[in-house]
Amino acid sequence: MGSRRPVARRNMLQEAEERRRRMLLRIDAALARIEDGRFGYCAICGGPIAAARLDREPVVTTCADCEHGRN
Ligand SMILES: [Zn+2]
Repeated sequence: MGSRRPVARRNMLQEAEERRRRMLLRIDAALARIEDGRFGYCAICGGPIAAARLDREPVVTTCADCEHGRN
């Protein structure tokens, strides 16, 4: 029983590390999009992404409509 806790904590650390790595990849991708002028435009429909949405989450790659499957 007592050995469960350390394993759970290690898994949590691995998950946190994994999340951080994925976020870094998304930030890298966002920076690449800024460089080639695609930043702020939806990767699916090509339309502009709302500024408020980008303020909230600068790494998003799609507009709200595409994310929710409305386009
Ligand atoms: Zn879109």
